Amino acid sequence: MLSVEGVTKTYRMGDVTVRALRGVTLQVQRGDFVAVMGSSGSGKSTLMNILGCLDVPTSGRYLLDGIDVSSYGDDDLADIRNRKIGFIFQSFNLVPRTRTIANVELPLAYAGMGRVQRRKRAVAALESVGMGNRIEHLPSELSGGQQQRVAVARAIVTNPPLILADEPTGNLDSRSTDDVLRIFSDLNAEGRTIVMITHEPDVAERAKRVIRLTDGRVVEDRRVAAVRDVRA
Ligand code: ADP
Ligand code: MG
Repeated sequence: MLSVEGVTKTYRMGDVTVRALRGVTLQVQRGDFVAVMGSSGSGKSTLMNILGCLDVPTSGRYLLDGIDVSSYGDDDLADIRNRKIGFIFQSFNLVPRTRTIANVELPLAYAGMGRVQRRKRAVAALESVGMGNRIEHLPSELSGGQQQRVAVARAIVTNPPLILADEPTGNLDSRSTDDVLRIFSDLNAEGRTIVMITHEPDVAERAKRVIRLTDGRVVEDRRVAAVRDVRA
């Protein structure tokens, strides 16, 4: 589903050059659940931005579902993002002073879906993450773990085949971390492809595959031995 081929990313700020990615090659098949690990500054978010069509490589190719998006412009990238990708961030990024249900309806509103259908889809997404009883709450009235579950509902409400999560449990306690990881496992079992950035080893072990970056290069790429079922 994802094919990253010799991708580099160089940021230039004045006369300072930062080589955030120094030649990354990797493939991700549909239905995989990948954790990307690495210390701060190793290039994880840069890679995620490229995988998520938020940015393009300096050199190399990135194919999403067989389409080379390396040279796409902003409008085409936005179109691909809307159709194929659900994003989840460390800081939840819910719209403040806006009710849960409206937050989750937002991507559907952008897509031009009618009000009734929108509400139905948003309620179903919220129920699937255990937040069906909080649809009228404001983000400020929810715990961090609850806000992240709303953010997951917002990410999946458009039914994207690919979910990208940048440190999704970075601000959560262990109980909420477990809730979010269970939801990811369920989404993955439904066939969705997940790429999740984390620097927590025990979080990474809940994926099926672990890729480690150091200084903008892949230094490790392994299958997780046994997928533990935490519900057992
Ligand atoms: P990580 O997510 O692993 O912490 P990043 O991908 O955010 O790492 O950053 C990798 C390197 O690229 C860092 O040295 C960072 O300072 C630099 N970097 C990231 N984004 C930018 C940017 N927009 N402009 C300039 N430098 C950047
Ligand atoms: Mg980062």
